Amino acid sequence: MTATHNFLSTLTGVFASPVAENPTGVMVEAAYRHHGVAARYVNCDVAPENLEAAVRGAVAMGWVGFNCSLPHKVAVMAFLDEIAESAALIGAVNCVVVREGRLVGENTDGQGFLASLRTTVDPRSQVALVLGAGGAARAIAVELALAGARKIVIANRSPQRAADLARHVKERTPADAAAIDWAGTLTVPDDAGIVINATSIGLFPHVDERPDLDYGSLGPATAVADVIPNPPHTAFLRAAEARGCATIDGLGMLVNQAVIGIRLWTGVDADTHVMRAALDELFA
Ligand code: NDP
Repeated sequence: MTATHNFLSTLTGVFASPVAENPTGVMVEAAYRHHGVAARYVNCDVAPENLEAAVRGAVAMGWVGFNCSLPHKVAVMAFLDEIAESAALIGAVNCVVVREGRLVGENTDGQGFLASLRTTVDPRSQVALVLGAGGAARAIAVELALAGARKIVIANRSPQRAADLARHVKERTPADAAAIDWAGTLTVPDDAGIVINATSIGLFPHVDERPDLDYGSLGPATAVADVIPNPPHTAFLRAAEARGCATIDGLGMLVNQAVIGIRLWTGVDADTHVMRAALDELFA
């Protein structure tokens, strides 16, 4: 009697450089194992001059999709057939889906943040204060606006970047938007129901740093979120908790952007608990 075997893996992964410390594969492969999906997630160190060849190679090898991280999130757009609406508005792609040889670019950073935020607060009709105007802030501001937030208020160390992002959101989405000055200690606007640290302040090893806010101006009804995944329990979130605020950490964003990627690539709705546990073990 002969048994039939299938040794062919579904292939996914991430193209970035450097990429050795990117932990996404640990939680994605934990989800694949948990759900019995015969797929792999491979970290690939791809230099900028090899990006096009890497993308063509992935298609040639039948990959179902891949993430792009720094420095490829903008450059990869030139090699795709289609860009999803929010990714086009954000101006960056971090997730590519290969469907029948066609390459579709998505941005799952902001969507992952929104999925994590929604476990605690509904962004519809809310005023959100976004700290930062880099890639993460841009993805979050656009997705909040598309999700029905009433107004996005942006504060950034470099004021011109805050003004540019606020103008972009106001002109290109249904939400209102404004930039506010962040010279010295920032007072949270009275009407802000959601406050988000989308700067890199607090990222390891700068674990004691937190955005320069008047934390006394944070009301207990405000939901406070951080993008920093390492360490997840930041000084910013601890200060918000001390004010009685509900908090959402950056691991939730990391897990949920991967859940969206897995769904787009394989159709499987991955268990967030399994993925979070894999990361918790890694960062423990
Ligand atoms: P960028 O470099 O594009 O932007 C960094 C932002 O932080 C800018 O607004 C910058 O201000 C601000 N900033 C940095 N240092 C300081 C400081 N000392 N004081 C005030 N502002 C500061 O980075 P990204 O937007 O791509 O990433 C930001 C953070 O988000 C990173 O720490 C990253 O780990 C995290 N992230 C988390 C994800 C998750 O899934 N949890 C996903 C993606 C990102 P300025 O414009 O003045 O330079």
